[in-house]
Amino acid sequence: MKRIEGYDYDVVICGGGVVGCSLACLLAKANFKVALLDRDVRADRSSQKNDSRIFAITISSKRILNKTGAWHLIPEDSISPFRRMHVWDENGDGEIRFESASICEPAMGYIIAQNFLTDALFQKINEFENIDLIKGASPKSIEKDANAICIDIDNSQELKTKLVVAADGSNSKVRQLCNINFQKHDYEQSALACVVTTEIEHSAVARQRFLSDGPLAFLPMKNPHQSGIVWSAKPERIDELLKLDKATFQNELAVAFENKLGQIKESTERNIFPLSRAQADHYVQPRLALIGDSAHTVHPLAGLGANLGILDSASLAEILIDTFNSDRDIGRLQVLRRYERWRRTENQQIMYMLDGFKYLFENKFQSVQWLRNLGLDIVDEMPIVKNAIMARAMGLKGNLPRFARNYN
Ligand SMILES: Cc1cc2nc3c(=O)[nH]c(=O)nc-3n(C[C@H](O)[C@H](O)[C@H](O)COP(=O)(O)OP(=O)(O)OC[C@H]3O[C@@H](n4cnc5c(N)ncnc54)[C@H](O)[C@@H]3O)c2cc1C
Repeated sequence: MKRIEGYDYDVVICGGGVVGCSLACLLAKANFKVALLDRDVRADRSSQKNDSRIFAITISSKRILNKTGAWHLIPEDSISPFRRMHVWDENGDGEIRFESASICEPAMGYIIAQNFLTDALFQKINEFENIDLIKGASPKSIEKDANAICIDIDNSQELKTKLVVAADGSNSKVRQLCNINFQKHDYEQSALACVVTTEIEHSAVARQRFLSDGPLAFLPMKNPHQSGIVWSAKPERIDELLKLDKATFQNELAVAFENKLGQIKESTERNIFPLSRAQADHYVQPRLALIGDSAHTVHPLAGLGANLGILDSASLAEILIDTFNSDRDIGRLQVLRRYERWRRTENQQIMYMLDGFKYLFENKFQSVQWLRNLGLDIVDEMPIVKNAIMARAMGLKGNLPRFARNYN
C-alpha cells in the first residue's frame, strides 16, 4: 500500500457519533491515517452529554462493532440482548410476536444506551496511533481540486486529504458547505425519550404499541425493571407530556401502554427529538462521501437509524480499503459512486417500508383499521413471512458489507 505524498491524512471524518467513530476504527485497522473532527469538546466523554437515547442494535451492527474492536469494550452489564418482540395496535386486537429462536438466532438485537456505545468507540479510537481526534472543531470551508480536498476548520487549521467523509448528523455542515440538497419530509411528530422503572419485569421482550397518533416503544434494559422508552406523537402532545410533573407523566405513560408492565415507578429526564424522513440528493461528490444521518434520517419506530448508518460505514470502509490496497485513488467519483448506488438503494427500501408501517398504523378509517388487525393476525400465523420480516429487521438479509457477515 502506497501513501501519496503531500497529504495530512488519507481520510478526514467530520462527526464523532456512532457512525463516524465506526468508520474511523475500521479504516484505522486497515492502516489508513485518519483525522476525526467533532465540534463538541466533550465528544469522547459522551456520558457527560445530556442524551437519554437508547439504541436497539441489530445483529449486523454488532458484527461490525465487533470488527471495529469496540464491542468488547462496552461494559457487559450495559448490553441487554432481547429475544422476543411484541407489537400490537391500539384500535383492535390484532397483534404480532417475533422470537429470535424461530430463525435460530440467540437474540433479535441488543439494547444499549448510546453513551456506552460511543464511549467504547472512543476508547478504541484512543488506542489507534493513526487516528488524530480533533475536538471542538467544525469545518469552516471546503475546497477541492482534482487531486485533493482541503478542509479549513474553525481552530484555524487546514487539513489536506484525499477524502472527506461527512458523519456530522442530520444538520450536516459539510453537506451544506458542499451544496448538497437534503430533501426533508416533516412527519409532524416528535419523539420523547427517557428511561423508566416499571412495576413488572420486562422479561427481555421489546414491546411497541401503535397508538393512533404514533408508536410507543419500551426497550428492555439490563435491569429487568428498566426500559428505554420512545413515545412518538404530534409535537403539541409531546410538548404537553414534557410539561407534566413526573407522577402525572408516569401515570399517562402506564395508561398509554395498557399497564402491560404495571405502574411506572420512576423516570429520568425527558428528551425531545423532532422527527423527519430525509435523504440527501447525492451521497457522494468527487472526494466527498456522506454517511449516517448526514445522508438520511428515518422514523425511530423500528430503531434503525443508527443501524443504517453503521452499515453505511462498513460498506464505505469495504470499498475504500479495497481501493487503497490496489493503489488506486480513494477520492475518485467512480469509486465513491459504488458506495452511493449500494447504500442509497438499501436505505431507500427501508425508508419506504417504515413509511408504509407508519401510515398504515396511523390511518383512522375503520375499514383500514379492521384490515390492519386482520393482517397482523394473519402474518402472526405465517412463520415464513414473519421470519423474513424479522431477518430483514435484524440486519441479516439485504446486500451486506463483508464486515457485517459472520465469517470474517
Ligand atoms: C428518539 C430516538 C430514538 C432512536 N432510537 C434508535 C435505535 O433504537 N436504533 C437506531 O439504530 N437508531 C435510533 N435512532 C436514530 C439514531 O439516533 C441516529 O440515526 C444516529 O444517532 C445517527 O448517528 P450519526 O453518527 O450519523 O449522527 P449523530 O449521532 O447525530 O452524530 C453526529 C456527530 O457529529 C458531530 N457534529 C455535528 N455537527 C458538527 C460540525 N459542524 N462539526 C463537527 N462535528 C459535528 C456531533 O457532535 C456528533 O458527535 C433514534 C433516534 C431518535 C431521535
